[in-house]
Amino acid sequence: MAIAALRLRLDAAALQANFRWFEGRASVPACAAVKADGYGLGAIAVVQRLAAAGCRSVAVSSWAEAEALGHPGDGIAVRVLHGFTPADAASAQALPWARPVLNTALQCAAWRATFQSRLADLMLDTGMNRLGLALPDLPAAEGLRLDTVHSHLACADDPAHPQTAAQLAAFGAVVAATPTVRHSLANSAGICWGRDYSFDGVRPGLGLYGGLPHPAADVRPVVQPEARIIQIRDVPTGGAVGYGATWIAGRDSRIAIVNLGYADGVFCRLQPHLHFVAEGHGLPLAGRISMDMIAIDVTGTDVREGDWLPLTYDLPALSAAAGFSQYELLVSLSRRYERCWI
Ligand SMILES: *Cc1c(COP(=O)(O)O)cnc(C)c1O
Repeated sequence: MAIAALRLRLDAAALQANFRWFEGRASVPACAAVKADGYGLGAIAVVQRLAAAGCRSVAVSSWAEAEALGHPGDGIAVRVLHGFTPADAASAQALPWARPVLNTALQCAAWRATFQSRLADLMLDTGMNRLGLALPDLPAAEGLRLDTVHSHLACADDPAHPQTAAQLAAFGAVVAATPTVRHSLANSAGICWGRDYSFDGVRPGLGLYGGLPHPAADVRPVVQPEARIIQIRDVPTGGAVGYGATWIAGRDSRIAIVNLGYADGVFCRLQPHLHFVAEGHGLPLAGRISMDMIAIDVTGTDVREGDWLPLTYDLPALSAAAGFSQYELLVSLSRRYERCWI
């Protein structure tokens, strides 16, 4: 098999420490959001490592994602956030450890018709107006065997937004109307609003992977991209590098080409905020980022063809500087990276 020439170093201890931080902060069990293939890091590997940290429940978007994840281990439940339609019946039959989070009256009826005695969750909308039943539609869930009733916060990553407290109050009415089941409201950012948001379980995602959901979160970075030098060349003063000839050598220069580009999530708009690192120095990018190559000015260093170079990748800072959300940056890390857990 060909050896991947670019890689993500993924820090399992940091992932686990982040999980424990969110669970500890909430003081209730955390269901880890691992949709979109574990926010791009690889859901199977993420779930294995979270399970070792005590995680007993994970959430994916669809039955296709639940199928791709496979059996997550004994005693670990998989929640399917987009719910259930009759077309999902065969998948649901094949994945007894998974359960839908039902969102509509039709979904409730479809689940009841096929799997009446099997546990399901329910999503109630409390002001986001995305997925979930409205409180007056709660009778649609009658006759279901419910484990947990969820709702989701729209604005918890803004520490000053009034909608978060309003949703907490609205969720109070949901809890009053469903006294016999468990309740869950908070994502990573919501957990940071305090224990009032904990209820019986929380659902962190972003923060597990090193994203900073809220200034009060204490998260460790998990992802470190690295690229390999595939060529080094000398470029004399006045020589131009890359598409558009936008970079002109102001002195005799040594230029390294690494095998990483915008197809790997290193978008051109990130360029002013990125550099590579060698021998303790930041190495600036030279010229435009290509689809799968970047030129770096390595003048004055001893780096060689074949060397691996880490790319600075401070997720919150990059996001703030370049205008991509931390979520977008994570899920844009391409399949071409070998994902190396350390
Ligand atoms: C994705 C998701 C989460 C996790 O949200 P983060 O902001 O990544 O912590 C929690 N709950 C639901 C319903 C989700 O869709």
